[in-house]
Amino acid sequence: MITIKSAKQVEKMRLSAKIAKGAVDLIEKAVKPGVSTAYLDKIAHDYIVSKGAKPNFLNYNGFPGSICASVNDEVVHGIPSKHVILQEGDIISIDMGAVLDGWHSDMARTFGVGKISPEAQQLIDVTKQSFFEGLKFLKHGARLGDVSHAIQEYAESYGYGVVRDLVGHGIGQSLHEDPNVPNFGKAGHGVKLAAGMTLAIEPMITAGGYKVALLDNDWTVVTDDGSLAAHYENTVLITKDGYEILTL
Ligand code: MG
Repeated sequence: MITIKSAKQVEKMRLSAKIAKGAVDLIEKAVKPGVSTAYLDKIAHDYIVSKGAKPNFLNYNGFPGSICASVNDEVVHGIPSKHVILQEGDIISIDMGAVLDGWHSDMARTFGVGKISPEAQQLIDVTKQSFFEGLKFLKHGARLGDVSHAIQEYAESYGYGVVRDLVGHGIGQSLHEDPNVPNFGKAGHGVKLAAGMTLAIEPMITAGGYKVALLDNDWTVVTDDGSLAAHYENTVLITKDGYEILTL
């Protein structure tokens, strides 16, 4: 069931989203060679708790971290670890959110560690821009497939892979709600969008093919061909005349 949020409920999600964004901003400043992903996890955890919220990823289906920290060919669900030390030239995707007063937020960014290759930078930039290409079609009365198609078309125009096995989602009083929000699809198809829907839109793009594999830890998703992956996500509200990005 797709839920429509009232103005009051959206206000709560705005507060939750602000906390998630604050944590990601702290992580962005902390990302450098020599830092462990466990350290980044602690930064996010402590900040979110200090704001009276909870990290909604922690213990979600048993996930052991407050953030997902996915390095290089890891697409999503990288487990923070003191043994994963960032190296110059790596890219790291941080996916995380907060729950405040029962209302969830969810967002992701990919950062470069020190100096990164032009190829890695382009992947990060195109992944981010693919999100905004999708948003050009996000409005009351449009079809979800319009958004999905625009994301796919833009990313694939660079020869990149659009991950199929993982998709965005509705969000609100649960971290994952209806509808599924794929980053690929047909324009003019899919769920009809309406003001008051809140969606986590999250292109996951690879420098190679779209196929992914699961590591032995049963969490971490990697590209099947070992190519780099990037992730960009925001929690977004559909309004009468467009949208509002809550986690920006
Ligand atoms: Mg998400």
